[in-house]
Amino acid sequence: MSKKRTLSFNPDGPKNKRRKLPATVPTNIDVTNKFEVIAVGRPHSVHLHTLKDVQNFRIRLLSWFETVRHVRGMPWRKPFCDNYEEQSQRAYEVWISEIMLQQTQVATVIPYYDRWMEKFPTINDLAKADIDAVNKLWKGLGYYSRASRLLTGAKKVVDKYNSRLPDDVKILEKEIPGVGRYSAGAVCSIAYGRCVPVVDGNVHRLLSRVLALYSSPKARKTLDLLWKGAEDMVAGYCNPGDVNQALIELGSTVCKVKEPFCESCPLNSGCGAYAEYTGLVTGRPSTDIEDLCQICEQVPPGNAVTRFPMRASKTKSRIETDLVNLIEWRGNGERQFVLVRRPDKGLLAGLYEFPSREAISSDETDDLLHLPYLVLNNLFGNIFSKDKFLKDETALGPRHEYKCDVTYIGDYVHIFSHIRKTYRIISIIIQGGSSPPLFSSSKDQAGEQKTHGIGTDNIGLRAKWTLEKDVSDAK
Ligand code: SF4
Ligand SMILES: [Zn+2]
Repeated sequence: MSKKRTLSFNPDGPKNKRRKLPATVPTNIDVTNKFEVIAVGRPHSVHLHTLKDVQNFRIRLLSWFETVRHVRGMPWRKPFCDNYEEQSQRAYEVWISEIMLQQTQVATVIPYYDRWMEKFPTINDLAKADIDAVNKLWKGLGYYSRASRLLTGAKKVVDKYNSRLPDDVKILEKEIPGVGRYSAGAVCSIAYGRCVPVVDGNVHRLLSRVLALYSSPKARKTLDLLWKGAEDMVAGYCNPGDVNQALIELGSTVCKVKEPFCESCPLNSGCGAYAEYTGLVTGRPSTDIEDLCQICEQVPPGNAVTRFPMRASKTKSRIETDLVNLIEWRGNGERQFVLVRRPDKGLLAGLYEFPSREAISSDETDDLLHLPYLVLNNLFGNIFSKDKFLKDETALGPRHEYKCDVTYIGDYVHIFSHIRKTYRIISIIIQGGSSPPLFSSSKDQAGEQKTHGIGTDNIGLRAKWTLEKDVSDAK
């Protein structure tokens, strides 16, 4: 019989650096000693990542949820109802709220949701709206593509599904733009009572801790285990919408990213991460190699529950520079700015912006004060060139003499999820004349001037002069 090796449990974990989990249980470890196994390398059975005693778990979760259901005052959180018409309306409300809640806090969303429902109380009202009205209500929430997808989705539901969002997650995901597995699960479980799971960021974190799962957070196997855990919670239950809302609520208010309230958590007695924290390990290492978990990586030292879930490895941000031209005309005691409407599809669809050149190359950034003239020429035709007074010649004869000053103002950096964007701000002040210069498109429409646009993107067609006071509300 081999000599038994004993190791004392160190609550702060091993001092050595992170190691890869051994492929098999080391033979020199007494697997009956749970503390030993965790301290050395945490080999464990894959069954550690399966929910146990789900019924009991659900009872404790729902009892807790009843005490907090209305605390955050969410207007879309209503009791489940089995009337067909009311379910259709609930589905619309849940859909709107879930899309608004993507990457936005509950407290921020509530007033937006209220204003939205006042303007578009039903999906039919939304389907009749235009993108300007939708964008106006969305202003401040960001990610405007979400708003335009809601409009497209509403039109489709009215035309193709008789104004009722489908009650099947697969159809919802396939047919309704912007609806993924999570939103489809939320609509179908909360509004229609379908036993389908939801896993958003909050539930992902919560279940990663409950299941003591330490593996790449976006890996297919990780997501499969988490979705399976969420599915077990709702399977066969009469009110799956409440279970899903309770999981989301618990994840966001108790099982927080930092400093979770484990002592008062209703699930603490069945939580794997908490068990490791307290030393009461729920999972036993398997002596059967077939059962050994091959998904988890080595957990960082220590015993804090916040070691779970594993952090996502950071992907390198793309670096881009956009040139933003603040083109201003000064005259008659007024200041007017050029705004350009973005295309009706794609990023920030239909919104107005200052004329910009996106993702300029490094060569172009070196030629900062030349580039704005390309934009000016695109807008007005070749009436401007560096440091010169030029006449705006039209078929009507010489109209105005304009002077143009171009100044580099500075850079503004914004970090998106995958892009580090630098906005290089250029001020272009046009003076002269009794009115601002005409856009080349206006001249075309009058049939009095040849097209001056450069290439195919003649932004003059989408541009307008806007008084300074109206710039922030342009539509
Ligand atoms: S016990 Fe702690 S870690 Fe576990 S689910 Fe509750 S709050 Fe999260
Ligand atoms: Zn594991």
